[in-house]
Amino acid sequence: MVNRQIAEWLDSLVAQRQRVLSEYQAKEILRTWGLPVPPCLVAESAGQAKAHAEKLGYPSVLKVLSPVIVHKSDAGGVKLNLTDGDAVEKAYREIEQTCAPLDPHFKVLVQPMAKPGLEVILGVSEDAQFGKAVMFGVGGIFVELFRDVAFRLIPLDRGQALEMISSIEAFPLLKGFRGRPPADTERLADLVVSLSELVTQHPAISEVDLNPVIAYPRGVAIVDARMALAPNPQP
Ligand code: ADP
Ligand code: MG
Repeated sequence: MVNRQIAEWLDSLVAQRQRVLSEYQAKEILRTWGLPVPPCLVAESAGQAKAHAEKLGYPSVLKVLSPVIVHKSDAGGVKLNLTDGDAVEKAYREIEQTCAPLDPHFKVLVQPMAKPGLEVILGVSEDAQFGKAVMFGVGGIFVELFRDVAFRLIPLDRGQALEMISSIEAFPLLKGFRGRPPADTERLADLVVSLSELVTQHPAISEVDLNPVIAYPRGVAIVDARMALAPNPQP
């Protein structure tokens, strides 16, 4: 079913001709769709970032929020594992130093540091001929070096999502390789299906990039999100 709130947001973004959504905007949509997105708050000063971090709890993460900075880490725009208010204020100023020259109107997203787990990647892309497809892989060298990813056309059911997840070479990692904790493949399959339903019900969304999603023995958390809208979305 179409989510009215999401449809309204997308309509206004399309009207404003915004093609690429910020991490904050993408996460608001994903959260509203019922997906597991940890809380995050927008800060416009070091003091505000600190207040947000106190509210969300430590350790905290600061990330630059700017339409012109797509790869946040590359711009020095991601500060992890900040353990107190001083560290948060210092991290804000460091982000300011490297990012303000790229975008004087930058903001900062404050979020809690997610616990370590297996980092996976989930995406949606659109092909003029075949339509939309979902992508799944294990983060880091498995995707970047080995191109170990699986693609399936949308729509797909839960069984097909599980089959897709188990088809990658790195699948043993998800089962708990050499004493490492396993990843919740059931919740990952739910996420694949729910994401494919989101983009089917809201065709304005042409691309989604969740990199990473952190998978735990129980549950998953969407830690980074990017979304793009089609230039001429179908009604
Ligand atoms: P980008 O991909 O734009 O460089 P990310 O938001 O993906 O920025 O952050 C870079 C890396 O930092 C992620 O791949 C992840 O390993 C780590 N990271 C980001 N946010 C968090 C978080 N809230 N908790 C734990 N680790 C995080
Ligand atoms: Mg990322």
